[in-house]
Amino acid sequence: MLTAEIIAIGSELLTPDRTDTNSLWLTEKLNGIGVEVKLKTVVGDDDARLEETIRDALRRSRVVITTGGLGPTEDDITRKIAGRAMGRRLMLNEQVLDGVRAKFIAMGRAMPEINARQAMIIEGAEVLDNPRGTAPGLFVEHEGRSVALLPGPPREMRPMFETLVLPKLAAKAGDVRVARRILRVAGMGESAVDERIAPVYTQYKNPQTTILFNKSEIEIQLTAQAKTERDAELLLDGLAGQIEERLGDAIFAFRGEMMEEIVGLRLAVGGFTLAVAESCTGGLVAQRITEVAGSSNYFKEGVVAYANESKVRLVGVPSELITEYGAVSAPVAEAMAEGVRQRADADFGISVTGVAGPGGGSPEKPIGLVYVALADDAHTEHRKLMLPGDRQLIRWRASQAALDLLRRRLI
Ligand code: ATP
Ligand code: MG
Repeated sequence: MLTAEIIAIGSELLTPDRTDTNSLWLTEKLNGIGVEVKLKTVVGDDDARLEETIRDALRRSRVVITTGGLGPTEDDITRKIAGRAMGRRLMLNEQVLDGVRAKFIAMGRAMPEINARQAMIIEGAEVLDNPRGTAPGLFVEHEGRSVALLPGPPREMRPMFETLVLPKLAAKAGDVRVARRILRVAGMGESAVDERIAPVYTQYKNPQTTILFNKSEIEIQLTAQAKTERDAELLLDGLAGQIEERLGDAIFAFRGEMMEEIVGLRLAVGGFTLAVAESCTGGLVAQRITEVAGSSNYFKEGVVAYANESKVRLVGVPSELITEYGAVSAPVAEAMAEGVRQRADADFGISVTGVAGPGGGSPEKPIGLVYVALADDAHTEHRKLMLPGDRQLIRWRASQAALDLLRRRLI
């Protein structure tokens, strides 16, 4: 498989307020033609470091793509340094110079002398036209390596790469297609997931498996390579099926969907409606549900019943329950779910009550103690959870647990 690396050039990308997004976009495009990105670097406008980086890249990667630093100013060093790293001279290309000049004339201006730099071309390079800017890109075949120097602004870089570079690389990559799939798991820890599925996925080099921890979910990423997209998908189907056998219902998404999408889909398919009563999540469950387009078909209402008195007044929790068990308790969680379901006249009611911290914890009710409950017309159930994390994470995980409780009921 063809390997690539990407070098993002520009000192501004090393500041806290700029991000290198070009490499993300490029990686997706490269993966699409079966080229694997093995390394990404961000380098400031520094001659020595950039030269070193490009030399290293040429040594280890068949495809090297740089973005940025093709402008006309003193700190735009990519052309000069890339030429030096390859041992190729820079030469003024009259035709390119005329082109740059013509762009200024079209804008009703004279070309500033410094822009002549943009017509300095690396010996043997192909000039990549830039219809959206003045800086042309360059493409060089150098000692078995394909090197593309692209401008930094995404709106200039993208069309140039897609129309002028991607086809060349696709031809080199041959018949390799890459397919990717994200499985999401709820209610299990990373090591528990790994323990169960490692015996399966370690048998395969293709697809390749990565397990990631993301907020409260475990993500299993599968990447397969094959001659056609269909074959790559079939490889994914095979491994995903075996993983499903081992994890069962804990997997809630096979195509990277979010929990709220899956729950929404199930509600919609069944023609069910939902109401939510929330305490410590403060509306997060309702927010997540309503982020899904079409949620009005199944979501009736969400109540944030934060104070004890509000739990009584808004969703009809008997005040004796709160006095006897406290607001963070199984009976109150169940009463909230039942109450909101009844008042909203919905098929399902779900609820969350817990201690998100950082204050408010006690030995009996520590930070992270959360109850979620689910009620339908026949019965009510709850889950007691001890959630790790800070306030924000506990709230998010609580919302996930509430949604997951409903998801499992809808299976
Ligand atoms: P120009 O001819 O416009 O000067 P250039 O090739 O010199 O092009 P830069 O000056 O390095 O490009 O970058 C111009 C702008 O492009 C930056 O301010 C930034 O907004 C954007 N940019 C540069 N590199 C990246 C990157 N890796 N990811 C996202 N945006 C980038
Ligand atoms: Mg620049």
